[in-house]
Amino acid sequence: GKGSAMVTAVAYRFAAQQAERQRILDTLRLSRNQLLEVKERMNEEMARGLSKQTHEQASIKMLPTYVRSTPDGTEHGDFLALDLGGSSFRVLLVQVRSGTKSNVDMHHKIYSIPQETMQGTAEELFDHIVDCIADFLKYRDMRGVSLPLGFTFSFPCHQSKLDQGILLRWTKGFKASGCEGHDVVSLLKDNIIENEFDLNFVAVVNDTVGTMMTCSYEDPKCEVGLIVGTGTNACYMEEMHNIELVEGDSGLMCVNMEWGAFGEGGELDDFCTQFDRVVDACSSNPGKQRYEKMISGMYLGEIVRNVLLDFTAKGLLFRGKLSERLKTHGIFETKFLTQIEKDRLAMRQIRSILQHLGLTSSTCDDSVVVKEVCSVVARRAAQLCGAGLAAVIDKIRQNRNLNQLSITVGVDGTLYKTHPHFSSIMQETLQDLAPQCQVTFHKSEDGSGKGAALITAVACRIMTQDNN
Ligand code: BGC
Ligand code: MG
Repeated sequence: GKGSAMVTAVAYRFAAQQAERQRILDTLRLSRNQLLEVKERMNEEMARGLSKQTHEQASIKMLPTYVRSTPDGTEHGDFLALDLGGSSFRVLLVQVRSGTKSNVDMHHKIYSIPQETMQGTAEELFDHIVDCIADFLKYRDMRGVSLPLGFTFSFPCHQSKLDQGILLRWTKGFKASGCEGHDVVSLLKDNIIENEFDLNFVAVVNDTVGTMMTCSYEDPKCEVGLIVGTGTNACYMEEMHNIELVEGDSGLMCVNMEWGAFGEGGELDDFCTQFDRVVDACSSNPGKQRYEKMISGMYLGEIVRNVLLDFTAKGLLFRGKLSERLKTHGIFETKFLTQIEKDRLAMRQIRSILQHLGLTSSTCDDSVVVKEVCSVVARRAAQLCGAGLAAVIDKIRQNRNLNQLSITVGVDGTLYKTHPHFSSIMQETLQDLAPQCQVTFHKSEDGSGKGAALITAVACRIMTQDNN
């Protein structure tokens, strides 16, 4: 009768909506062949970034770091470290004792960086940083002592020596004017009032490099550093003869890949969706850091939010009702993405997360859909990251003419560390795309702080040796 016709109509509409959602989500799903293609293109860009002839045009800059050796355990002394790269700034006192490994003591203080300082002028930003250092020295009763200092500065920098770093561009929402094209060590020194205190800069360090160094202090097989946090990036030990931008052919040097910029030459266009294009267009650096925008914490929530907006506009979610909050840029923080995917989290809890986002009228079905969107977006991020890593590790294997390579990757970053599935999906992808490599992952504890101190310590050890 009439009733059963209605039931059929409802069931039909339900199925059609489900099919429509899947059709859209399919654009965010990558096949094995597509991932192999990503690995291949990453490999090509790495070669282009390393070669003098193509370096300028290459999207991945493959920056020399002047870090040539990992710690040998004899390093010792007290060091200062600065850490700038996220929403806060840290000053650390790091005490390294030689002999037994992992004998490192750290004391630090965290200082927040207000949004307006992050987006103000060089003067304002570095003035604030100098104030924080002064506060730390006072707090530790260390005014007047001049310790060797390592500066973890987690942005792309051109280096022609260890203790200098010319900022190539800001990423991750930083915008302070008058910094790009300038040496961050000079910017900092210029803001220290005369006789206020003295800083003895020894090294400018990327967070990936610090992470690799910290990890290789405990495991000499660690020759790769990876960050998946607010931003994403990797570094690894490359053969000097492949690094055309640096004189000399023997030994190794760590290369800061700046892989987040991958895709700026269109390498990812085949895999990008309408959602990626909107997220890119609404960011503080449109057209830039395309790979980073598909992988890292600062952007995944935005991708999810844009999918939800699209679903809602098409009547496929929240009964077609758009909430004001969902229209707000940045409202879907990555921490929600991490929470929603916790396996034992019941639908009721997911609904309460949605309520927090102003999505009060959500139903149980809505929760299932939102969870699926989160999982598709995070899976793609982990697979893309795994494909990139496969290119890096296979290159190291080929550099050494090996059939099999066993290697360790030091990793840090909140997304990697807190997401319930990111690391396992990434590892699965890596194993699948680089089957000749056995890769161990080592989570680094505070790689950027400790790492800057260790690099400084290694540099000081070598300087002392050279002087003797
Ligand atoms: C920066 C890299 C950094 C990475 C992780 C990126 O946005 O360009 O220098 O290593 O974020 O913090
Ligand atoms: Mg060379």
